[in-house]
Amino acid sequence: MRIGCPREIKNREYRVGLTPESAGELVANGHDVWVESGAGEGIGAFDIHYTDRGAKVVETAEEIFANCEMIVKVKEPQAGERAMLREGQLLYTYLHLAPDPEQTADLVKSGCTAIAYETVTGSHGGLPLLKPMSQVAGRMSIQAGATALEKANGGRGVLLGGVPGVMPGKVVIIGGGVVGFNAAQMAAGLGADTVIMDLNPEVLEKVGTHFEARASTRFASRANIEEAVAEADLVVGAVLVPGAAAPRLVTRAMLKTMKPGAVLVDVAIDQGGCFETSHATTHDEPTYVVDDIVHYCVANMPGAVSRTSTYALNNVTLPHALRIANLGWKEAMRADPHLAEGLNVHAGKVTYPAVASELGYEL
Ligand code: NAD
Repeated sequence: MRIGCPREIKNREYRVGLTPESAGELVANGHDVWVESGAGEGIGAFDIHYTDRGAKVVETAEEIFANCEMIVKVKEPQAGERAMLREGQLLYTYLHLAPDPEQTADLVKSGCTAIAYETVTGSHGGLPLLKPMSQVAGRMSIQAGATALEKANGGRGVLLGGVPGVMPGKVVIIGGGVVGFNAAQMAAGLGADTVIMDLNPEVLEKVGTHFEARASTRFASRANIEEAVAEADLVVGAVLVPGAAAPRLVTRAMLKTMKPGAVLVDVAIDQGGCFETSHATTHDEPTYVVDDIVHYCVANMPGAVSRTSTYALNNVTLPHALRIANLGWKEAMRADPHLAEGLNVHAGKVTYPAVASELGYEL
């Protein structure tokens, strides 16, 4: 199969669909890989790194869309890319179609077969092609929070780990799923006084067993959140209610009870945010202040660490890409029902039930 990897064109997207190593793996399996010149620059992978692994570098995205049977990307195709998709062509990338009627209509019109990373399931449950980005965002939340806590950045001038003779900072993580767990690993690793809050007793038990004395757990009742937030130097919002907007767990009134210069990092901002005062920010201007509390609400946190994020993403996307290329997508999906869950659009139809019902398409 001929597989193409165009340069990402969404604003500030530095990740790339295939690392040079992934391209090499596909080549070693007997496939042709075409990469747009400069596609890997955002992760420090240059054209020579791809050609060294047997890929062909071409000058334009047009050449890739016109000649390749499968397109591997990171972000949903932008309007210009969608116009180049052809009938029968395979698109393998993040799509997030439910809130995006325009993109969905274009994919349906194109006649392409679109497999969405975010709906591929895993044999142990969950969404394994989304998980690495939650791991990245969770780990980054503490790094971002620690930076925002510095005095020059508007914070209260607290070093999370403290120093001998000085108390560490207090980190409260609301939501103990993938983001929360990874945030807790970083916070506890730094020596911060770390609390993880969740409503699910099984999550509290799992987190409690893992961290033992290095972090404490607390049921996420309103009263407990109020108390914990008032004492915190850094609060990380990491909740998810599948298919729904994030619940507003920290109200504006609670900000008044917090220490001036404390920091809120709302990782759940891509689902609307779990703090009442959150609004989405970008890496250009990641923070703003409300009632003396610094807010960090970047909706695409993994984009800032494009190299780590791309490698983490490729670890989970490449095995499926190989199977699709080796067997053809139909056979690959017959062999793996979890991959079949990724099929969102095929031959002019929406094939994913939740997207069809959200946007009014017939299955
Ligand atoms: P997850 O499903 O693994 O974990 C969510 C946790 O929230 C669960 O343990 C659940 O029990 C808990 N929860 C739900 N409602 C709660 C409540 N009211 N109080 C306390 N806990 C509650 O999800 P995840 O992968 O950790 O993702 C968390 C959020 O981070 C999602 O909204 C996700 O989209 C977002 N995210 C954002 C970025 C970014 O760049 N900003 C990147 C990756 C993920």
